Amino acid sequence: MASLLHLPFGTWTDTFVSVGLVSALPLLVTVIMARQEALLRRWLPQLTAFGAGAVFGAAVGHLIPESLEAGQSPLAVIAGVIAGYIAFALIERALAGHDHAHAHGVPLGAPSAHDSDISEAACVHLHAHDHAGHHEPSAHGATAHHAPALAPMAFLGDALHNFVDGALIAAGFLMQPTIGVMTVVAVGLHELPREVGTFGMFVHSGIRPMRAVMYNLVTAGVSLVGATLTLAVGHRMASATMLLLPFAAGTYLYIAQVVARAALRDRHADPAHWGRLAWSAGGAALVLAFAVGGA
Ligand SMILES: [Zn+2]
Repeated sequence: MASLLHLPFGTWTDTFVSVGLVSALPLLVTVIMARQEALLRRWLPQLTAFGAGAVFGAAVGHLIPESLEAGQSPLAVIAGVIAGYIAFALIERALAGHDHAHAHGVPLGAPSAHDSDISEAACVHLHAHDHAGHHEPSAHGATAHHAPALAPMAFLGDALHNFVDGALIAAGFLMQPTIGVMTVVAVGLHELPREVGTFGMFVHSGIRPMRAVMYNLVTAGVSLVGATLTLAVGHRMASATMLLLPFAAGTYLYIAQVVARAALRDRHADPAHWGRLAWSAGGAALVLAFAVGGA
């Protein structure tokens, strides 16, 4: 494996241009969606369901197979998945407690003072939903009130996933330019549905659309960090990142479960439940198809 000193300048440029392109396309799509806010809000339950399916597909079709291909033992992969799952279960528990404690202390009219960090944004979303005046109180209410930690979890999961993807692209280019390009195509294809779905989850939890775009921009920056570290450190960093793959998969399985749990809770009250289930299946199928096709 090439070390930093032996790298031609091209590997860095190729990697950064690739990571930039892979991040720019979903960002562009989410900016367009954020500007069509009425349309976005109408399709938000479907988009959130789609996002849950997409992250499930990314875990099952992309992160887990990738870690097995990298030579990790199935037992180690299962342990990593469980660790990621439990970590996010604990985070949700912690944030849900926080949300409850502060729910009545957040001024309704001034969310900007409070949603400067992501966990405060989760706090504010209960009120954001109260004021949104949407037509599906049961669907939104169930998700909002039973999954207060969805936005921070979606953010952390997205950041983790992007770090891994950036590192994978860099590792590909470190091995061979063709492997790098193949990785970019594989990552780029599943990235679009996954990032758009994550954007839906952000907005669904009460984050304003343009702020949700900013969150996507920040997590896009994390893939540059993953790529830079991998290029600079080389092979050892790539191996360390491989250990993160099952953990990242576990966090995504947990996020998918959170959305599914909220949807199941109001399946009697909400006839649109089955439609959203179809959107989830669509999100998973899209990412799985691209993950398998790109591998
Ligand atoms: Zn990915």
